Amino acid sequence: MIGEGTEEEDGDGYVNYIFRVRTEKEAYALKQGLALSRCSGTPMGVYRNKLEYDSMRIRYAIVPEYTPFLKFHDDENHIIVMEDVSYLGISRYEFNKNKIFPDYGRQCGECMAKTEFYTSEYYLGRDEYRKLQTKFENTELRRIMEDNIFMDMFGCEIERKLGAGFEDFCRQITTDNRYVTERMKLRRSFISHADALIHGDLHTSNIFASEDGMKVIDMEFSFMGPFGYDLGYLTGNLLSQYCAACFKPFSSESERREYKAYLLATIKSMFRTYFQTFTECWNQDAKQRYQGQDGLRRSIFDEIMRDAPGYASAVNWFRCAAEIDYPDFDVIKDLHDRKLAQTLSLLIDWQLAFQRYQFTSVDDLIDTVLFVEENYRKRL
Ligand code: ADP
Ligand code: MG
Repeated sequence: MIGEGTEEEDGDGYVNYIFRVRTEKEAYALKQGLALSRCSGTPMGVYRNKLEYDSMRIRYAIVPEYTPFLKFHDDENHIIVMEDVSYLGISRYEFNKNKIFPDYGRQCGECMAKTEFYTSEYYLGRDEYRKLQTKFENTELRRIMEDNIFMDMFGCEIERKLGAGFEDFCRQITTDNRYVTERMKLRRSFISHADALIHGDLHTSNIFASEDGMKVIDMEFSFMGPFGYDLGYLTGNLLSQYCAACFKPFSSESERREYKAYLLATIKSMFRTYFQTFTECWNQDAKQRYQGQDGLRRSIFDEIMRDAPGYASAVNWFRCAAEIDYPDFDVIKDLHDRKLAQTLSLLIDWQLAFQRYQFTSVDDLIDTVLFVEENYRKRL
């Protein structure tokens, strides 16, 4: 059973039962959903297991290279049997060890753009598109994200471990009405924009990676949500890694510089590939009535360029302001340095929430990150 080893070996999922089954020839992972969450004991509908399987099937049809092979589903026992992808590493823990995956940004961008385009109304017939909305209503799990990412921080207290000064800073940001409003506006888009089938929990622990491969797991939060949500959410995780890399120990300063540059280049490549792939899919496969509608496509991109940085902001805010384990920062053993890294993250989150309206490309996002970092260093 997975989950009894270290986080690095077994990841940080605690809701379902996961078993590994191996023969000499094959290796499978079994995911079993129970009516009570394995970690918290909270009741959760077991139908989520079939929904996850169906979401995985759709994704496997669109991007098999980025989805574990599916062996079968057992409806009675709520079990998904899929390829064991642990020949790749869980990307969060690899990033924590300063590992570089050269193709990660491109692969993630392509994966998101293809799954989103081919499950949107720009490609699907209206009946199929509406059927997806009904099928992936997923109210129970969506509520968890709707409330906690944008508002309630999973019911956690404001971060106290890092001292009273940091606690006050977190509280100020969290309760500032201007920032609350931005989170509410993003939450509104998250709740009401049924653009495409999104993953809904695309963080670095749900992405396995190696030098050349990448696979996405854990689709139970899937629903028809806004284009660019997953892009923003994952960007949030990469920015956490960036802030951690600013303050965690490296064997040399040039290694630190190289790693920081790698993380920003990955974000850049992810956005660029996302837009480029989406455009290629659109030109090739958009329904007749949308062919040549470049103005419409561009307005979708403008919206993504504005909202994805906002989602990154919200996700990072709750992970830094709440007293909640976050391995990306927890690897910094020196609490003073950890506080500096998390403060930088919150400063970036704040700027992204308000500057995003001016962003015309990912370069503007990166410039904002660098600008905040530079100013923060001057004050240290
Ligand atoms: P949960 O929904 O409970 O978070 P996940 O699907 O994220 O469950 O799985 C939890 C952990 O189980 C992952 O972090 C990973 O370590 C392991 N796991 C899940 N699916 C696979 C798979 N296909 N191959 C290898 N390991 C897997
Ligand atoms: Mg998980």
